[in-house]
Amino acid sequence: MRVRFAPSPTGQLHVGNARTALFNWLLARGRGGTFILRIEDTDVERSTRESEAAILEDLRWLGLDWDEGPDTGGPRSPYRQSERLHLYQRYASELLASDRAYYCFCTAAQLEAGRQEALASGRPALYACTCRRLSREQAQARIGAGEHPAVRFRVPAERDVVFTDAVRGDVRFHTDVISDPIIVRADGHPAYNFAVVVDDALMDVTHVIRGEDHISNTPRQILLYEALGFTPPTFAHLALVMGPDHSPLSKRHGATSVAEFRSKGYLPEALVNYLALIGWSPRGHGGDDEELMPAPELARRFALEDVGHSAGVFDEEKLAWVNRHYLKIADLMRLAELSVRYFNEAGVPMSPDRRGLEFLASALTMANVSVDRLNQVPARLALLFAYDAEAALRDPDVASEMRAEAARDVVRALAEELTTAPRLDRETFRAVANQVKARTAQKGKALFHPIRIALTGRPDGPELDLAVPAIDRGAELPPDAGIPKIIGNRERAAEFVRAIARNR
Ligand code: GLU
Repeated sequence: MRVRFAPSPTGQLHVGNARTALFNWLLARGRGGTFILRIEDTDVERSTRESEAAILEDLRWLGLDWDEGPDTGGPRSPYRQSERLHLYQRYASELLASDRAYYCFCTAAQLEAGRQEALASGRPALYACTCRRLSREQAQARIGAGEHPAVRFRVPAERDVVFTDAVRGDVRFHTDVISDPIIVRADGHPAYNFAVVVDDALMDVTHVIRGEDHISNTPRQILLYEALGFTPPTFAHLALVMGPDHSPLSKRHGATSVAEFRSKGYLPEALVNYLALIGWSPRGHGGDDEELMPAPELARRFALEDVGHSAGVFDEEKLAWVNRHYLKIADLMRLAELSVRYFNEAGVPMSPDRRGLEFLASALTMANVSVDRLNQVPARLALLFAYDAEAALRDPDVASEMRAEAARDVVRALAEELTTAPRLDRETFRAVANQVKARTAQKGKALFHPIRIALTGRPDGPELDLAVPAIDRGAELPPDAGIPKIIGNRERAAEFVRAIARNR
């Protein structure tokens, strides 16, 4: 089995195309096949090397590795269409020689006029190319006189083209509705339908899995396979990925590119798992949990027969649900490394070394089970890096709570206990809380809520058993660990006591 993903490098990798790549990859990896990456860059105006590099990077980030491709090479190289122009020329010459193709000298204006005429007379807008009837001698004479013709494929008349699509079943087109396609443009560049056939044939592609938007190209391609003496592959056309309003997912629905989801802080394994579930469900699966599985398991279970015909809707809520699952089980050191950019973007500049990262990893236990995405981590951990007692007291709820003498007693007792306490871990924090409880006779919420406000500067947030030790671990970090300065619990409590005294 040889499959391929054939992106045009004209922009960012769209999640719909990423899903096409993924389905090819899953099939190859599940069946011991070969996954080929081919760059379709014959549209010289729109193709860029930057876009190609970005697409390769996104595929690598997703973990969709390829066996043959523009960077890795392989037995059917080159893998960039712009480097295969001689091959298209060779096969176009073959078709011209056997009269299955002909030179077309029509200008864009003539073609448009023909189209308008056909429309006006109620015929389908198929251009009956006048050049179809030119003799070889006439064509050669015009080329000799300096004209640059395109090459068109002569579509056989009165034929049914039938193929069995692995997803959609039998598909039938009559050649009456297919006009003679251009295979080589006047500038010498091949047209998509021709290049794709030459490449898929020469690269021995056995299964062409692509978006449904290409289904109407398939009969042309099958006719070209026949004319060139090649055997067509199995085709599988995937329903497009839709937005919530059931129109194809586009910018107006929000994020559409892999790069955007990556920068919002989705994990690649979550995006892969989620994309696999758009239009496919593992056979015999019962319940949500069975939808969550790592890529090798997806590959083991993936089958084209289980891909549905109907369009799948991209649901970011569900993607977030999948992401939460992977955040919970992810290695914390990895999450720490990935989080650094989000702190920097959120205005908490840092470049942590190993000690800084270990600290962040330990603090992430307060965040990884409660955020949807990594870009929410800085807000969740803001209590570590920003502490301002005065600002806390400007919150009307905090201020009114702190007007009660009982709450002030708790905070004053806490500050006093902390002057002699060591840096807090979970046990010493419990011991200090017990001392404060004994001194003030407050318990439960009346005890812990003022403590929370005094030490974190906010009325809610992560468990104190996690937050308080994290604050003191942060306060102990050496300045060159690359983490912004963190104020310790002792200093926080003292500052809070001064602030309530000032706000009397
Ligand atoms: N370059 C085409 C695209 O990006 C590939 C289509 C195909 O897979 O045949 O749509």
